[in-house]
Amino acid sequence: MGRKKSPVDPPVCSLCEAPAVMNQQYSRRSLCSTHFINDVEERVFQVIEKKKMIRAGDRIAVALSGGKDSTALLLLLALHLPKWQDVSLIAVTVDEGIHGYRDETIRAAERVAENVGVEHSVVSFQDLFSDNLDTLLKGREEQACTVCGILRKKALIEGAKKVRATKIATGHNLNDEAQSVLMNVLRGDLPRLVRNSGIDTADSFLPRIKPLAEIPEKEVASYLFVKGMFLLLPECPYRGFALRADVRSMLSGLEHRNPGTMLRLMESRKKIEKYLEWEKVSGPLHRCRQCGDPCSGDLCQVCRLLLSLAR
Ligand code: SF4
Ligand code: ZN
Repeated sequence: MGRKKSPVDPPVCSLCEAPAVMNQQYSRRSLCSTHFINDVEERVFQVIEKKKMIRAGDRIAVALSGGKDSTALLLLLALHLPKWQDVSLIAVTVDEGIHGYRDETIRAAERVAENVGVEHSVVSFQDLFSDNLDTLLKGREEQACTVCGILRKKALIEGAKKVRATKIATGHNLNDEAQSVLMNVLRGDLPRLVRNSGIDTADSFLPRIKPLAEIPEKEVASYLFVKGMFLLLPECPYRGFALRADVRSMLSGLEHRNPGTMLRLMESRKKIEKYLEWEKVSGPLHRCRQCGDPCSGDLCQVCRLLLSLAR
């Protein structure tokens, strides 16, 4: 008869009894390094297949900031690449021009792209908008993430078009997605709340996919750690200004006390999406009179923002 498990015994893998490296509270499983790596790789592949994110002939621009999420995304897509017919990857990094932060992460992005043998391209705010983020934000630092988020999305689209990509892949993880759901509720932004979670074409005709959207942040970081690819990089100096910072700490507290909160939040979003159609909520699509991009009004968000920053 085997020895009875004591509460002080180190946790073991639910599948093979090897020492566990991950306790997945929401699935009530502990996993060893091999089963944890397999689990992440398998789930990401399943999400891509289930939501038909990648098709034969696609050229995917992988948004590579150099941080953990985008690094894991590039590794995972490169790993699965041979399974897709005639699909290629190219890494695209946006240089916003953030002093003391971006230069080091760009170097990290270059090294990762080189390691996995993927071509790398950099697109900068300076080239696209004639100024870097630090200059654009002078005197309005509290708006940093709003300004940065809008311009970075545009820069990524332009960077992807430049390398003739057919799709953009971003490294948003489950925490990012759950935070966005809550932020859109708090802002009362229904169109954004019900935007398609699988393949998003709302801001341009270039579809955006999020293959890590069902993987918690902790597991993305652990995946890199177990693979020996985890890097400690500087954090963006504007990070604390965002509404997202408050939502992030609130949600991580809730998830800790009630495991599965983030997954249930995403489920609620899916249910709402079923009843509300994005096209009906957002209204008819127009073209921006300044740049021609798809938008819901007269001017797109980017052109409106650039006008207000110039004032
Ligand atoms: Fe941009 Fe805000 Fe992210 Fe910094 S924290 S890179 S300002 S969105
Ligand atoms: Zn515009």
